[in-house]
Amino acid sequence: MRYYPNIPDLNANSSINLLLKRAKENRTVWIEEYETTGGYSALKKALTKLTPEDIVIMVEESTLRGRGGAGFPTGRKWRFALANPKPRYLICNADESEPGTFKDRIIIERDPHLLIEGMIISAYALGAELGFIYIRGEYPAGYMILEDAIEEARKKGYLGKNILGTDFSFDILVYRGAGAYICGEETALIESLEGKRGHPRLRPPYPANEGLFGRPTVVNNVETLSNIPIIVTYESYYMSIGPAGYYGPKLFPISGKVKNPGVYESTMDITLRELIDMAGGMKDGKKFKAVFAGALGVYSERDLDTPMDYSPKGFGGTGTTIVLAEDDCIIDALIVIGEFFHHESCGKCTPCRVGTYELLNILKKFQEGTATEKDIKYLEHLCENIPVGSICGLGYSAPNAVRDALKKFRDEFYLHIEKKCPAGVCFKE
Ligand code: NAD
Ligand code: SF4
Repeated sequence: MRYYPNIPDLNANSSINLLLKRAKENRTVWIEEYETTGGYSALKKALTKLTPEDIVIMVEESTLRGRGGAGFPTGRKWRFALANPKPRYLICNADESEPGTFKDRIIIERDPHLLIEGMIISAYALGAELGFIYIRGEYPAGYMILEDAIEEARKKGYLGKNILGTDFSFDILVYRGAGAYICGEETALIESLEGKRGHPRLRPPYPANEGLFGRPTVVNNVETLSNIPIIVTYESYYMSIGPAGYYGPKLFPISGKVKNPGVYESTMDITLRELIDMAGGMKDGKKFKAVFAGALGVYSERDLDTPMDYSPKGFGGTGTTIVLAEDDCIIDALIVIGEFFHHESCGKCTPCRVGTYELLNILKKFQEGTATEKDIKYLEHLCENIPVGSICGLGYSAPNAVRDALKKFRDEFYLHIEKKCPAGVCFKE
């Protein structure tokens, strides 16, 4: 086996052993082991006992929602694509780049055949003959592992012409991104796959209607597609895993000030507080301060009973949980997020290009002790207006963390105007 670079030894644990069944240890499960532990039996079942329509109905009934962050119902997205004529394409979005998000890499690096099997079954349901995995450039080992696993699957007859002797043919190509967060936005990803600059397209049309090379295209996240073999295996039993309406396993990447950062698998009937407990609780006995849900929202102590599901008051998103303690500064954390969005804005829309720059500069004034009350108003103005003139998710969500922090940690902004940092991070001599 060839040498794979840069695979961090991430902690992974599960109370239900579905998505992480084979992925708790830091090693790659290759095809022989995958098969002997039940792998590819869902594909065999799908191709011999189920019609494509049976699988689409199963996915609809499973209530599976997109695990890339938006939580859009997967079955509904598939229906949109199926309403359009062939050829249809399937794309796996493996460009996870949200700050603090490292859940998909666990599947890619440790159990790649789970994703590949999920893609083959999905392609069968969607009538697609070609699929793509768009993986972020920062996952070089994941790219090589996927290429090798795909070759193993081809040799075994799970990919290629007439899969397992049926008239269904499908193959997968792996494509590497080059380090731009925006290429995880589905239409920028499609542009990049087409060989163009990764700039988002205006939607509609959505990719399900007009995607890669103008053809109907389903873009699903790694974790979403990895649920498909589990749904086909468990059928109606899948609907007993987790709370009503939000069935199935979910991966939660936790980082920051917890004892055991890592990726945790659970049903979605847990709360944010319980998730932090799963990761061993607060590190060094420090007092909890906040959770940053990736770059997209801020949760305070009052929010610790938030359910980790996709309900309107649920945590939703990718499940990314960055935990801050009493000695972390909210302004400092917002600056990290602000630098990220300013750097990653593709520049196509002026409110996003200029607004993310302004947001960052104003936040820095609070850290430097030069901000006034007027700057709080200006931050609010930017939070309101950046999304209005933006065309993609980056611009819609860039101000979210600042907006939440202004509501939940407003006193910290005022204290910084007085050159006081409650965490003792800013204004050091
Ligand atoms: P969205 O809600 O606009 O769309 C979600 C999905 O549903 C898309 O695939 C879209 O094509 C489809 N869809 C929605 N309405 C449709 C319709 N009427 N017809 C056909 N298809 C339809 O969200 P988005 O802009 O695709 O994604 C934003 C999310 O991405 C954010 O919530 C963010 O959390 C997440 N994100 C995640 C990462 C990561 O690293 N995982 C990175 C960046 C952003
Ligand atoms: Fe680019 Fe921002 Fe416009 Fe999205 S909102 S297309 S990232 S400039």
